[in-house]
Amino acid sequence: ETITVQELANRMSERAVDVVRLLMKQGQMIKITDVIESDTAQLIAEEMGHTVRRVAESDVEEGLFAKSDDEAVQVARPPVVTIMGHVDHGKTSLLDAIRQTNVVSGEAGGITQHIGAYQVSAPSGDKVTFIDTPGHAAFTAMRARGAKVTDIVILVVAADDGVMPQTVEAIAHAKAAEVPIIVAINKIDKPDAKPERVRTELLQHDIVVESLGGDTIEVEVSAKQKLNLDKLLEMINLQAEILDLKAAVNTAAEGIVIEAKLDKGRGPVATVLIQRGTLHQGDIVVAGSQWGKVRALNSDLGQPVTDAGPSAPVEVLGFGGTPEAGDRVAVVESEARAREITAYRERLRREKQAARSTGARGSLEQMMSQLKTAEGRKEFTLVVKGDVQGSVEAIIGSLEKLGNDEVAARVIHSGVGGITESDISLAEASGAAVIGFNVRANVQARDAADRDGIEIRYYNIIYDLVDDVKQAMSGLLSPER
Ligand code: GDP
Repeated sequence: ETITVQELANRMSERAVDVVRLLMKQGQMIKITDVIESDTAQLIAEEMGHTVRRVAESDVEEGLFAKSDDEAVQVARPPVVTIMGHVDHGKTSLLDAIRQTNVVSGEAGGITQHIGAYQVSAPSGDKVTFIDTPGHAAFTAMRARGAKVTDIVILVVAADDGVMPQTVEAIAHAKAAEVPIIVAINKIDKPDAKPERVRTELLQHDIVVESLGGDTIEVEVSAKQKLNLDKLLEMINLQAEILDLKAAVNTAAEGIVIEAKLDKGRGPVATVLIQRGTLHQGDIVVAGSQWGKVRALNSDLGQPVTDAGPSAPVEVLGFGGTPEAGDRVAVVESEARAREITAYRERLRREKQAARSTGARGSLEQMMSQLKTAEGRKEFTLVVKGDVQGSVEAIIGSLEKLGNDEVAARVIHSGVGGITESDISLAEASGAAVIGFNVRANVQARDAADRDGIEIRYYNIIYDLVDDVKQAMSGLLSPER
């Protein structure tokens, strides 16, 4: 194990030149960028009066994020909602309408600004947090990075247009993330609105709304005429109650970066959604490979605040560099610890990049071996696209029969048509492979698959397809069988 002189100095919060000077005194001619053995590093650190705590690489992040079952007092927290649906069905209009109605009636003075998320109060007084970037691209990008932000998905379906391709995609994304859906049937003001048709069409995608005897909440709304928006907020809170959302408050904050930018005047600005604990001005935070001391916090109304609790979106100023959307945020006890963690992550990132550029690409078998076990059973997750509904159904039927106690295939999304970028991002977020039957991937999807190392397999004979998956699955069986 080795460490650079610079990094050692950073971890000790000492000047690198002083470390070099000490090394020179011991007869070693060394530059700041050179690496030294960890034993030497330990001697130097002790010489400079530091207590050394040697940690294994994997221990660096130890304790950074609290276990959810920790004994801190849990209190109810507002739900975090993402709006999804087909283009032009009114996602943006709905987000704007909800916010406007709320701010106008509120005391805040009506100044709103886009920071990536906002919070409103339902008529009952309960709060709801909305992610201000509609659509499943952002949602899935977050999830691919392991960030679970959304508690509830609002699926917007225009009553005059019905279920469309991106509606179906949104359903697949929400289901893969195991996030409950509330259906907002929008544009109910239009003369050609057919809300009943929306309800029936959703049945084909296993969404049974309450008025048809199912358990998916539905609300008819008009973003344009601001109809039933309060009812929608009420339904969100009802669903939140069922989910029993809780978080600790009086503990070090944890959260997720929703968006981040470099502002000319203010430096790096990150919108953080707090997930547990409370973030205070002056806290030392790490996010991905960036860290900083919180200089200022701003609410979604652009007002300075001193702290932010669970489910609150807040603008954080003070990061040394711009973190990335999806980065997990944690408060640490010291600047030295923040440096240690970010340096470690930066190194991991570089190693990963190097591995990627050497063209390491997983085979179907390798992909499967990485898959997590659900209840002791290995699951081979797949996205299946085909040319006609009949063959897609036949493929799914055959694949589902392949399972045994140890391993099973699970189709998380299927559909008719070419392979799209959305299929790839869903596969990436869920650790799935993508199968095309008599269809190809479009250019964007191919690029995305190359970039993310997602395997796409093409077939034109169902038997070959099923046989391949079977072969790959048998490679996953434990050796003693
Ligand atoms: P997005 O692509 O899903 O974000 O959809 P937009 O919010 O941009 O809306 C697309 C179009 O539908 C715009 O011209 C809106 O004015 C219109 N629209 C949105 N909601 C309603 C509604 O409730 N009623 C009517 N009549 N038009 C709406």
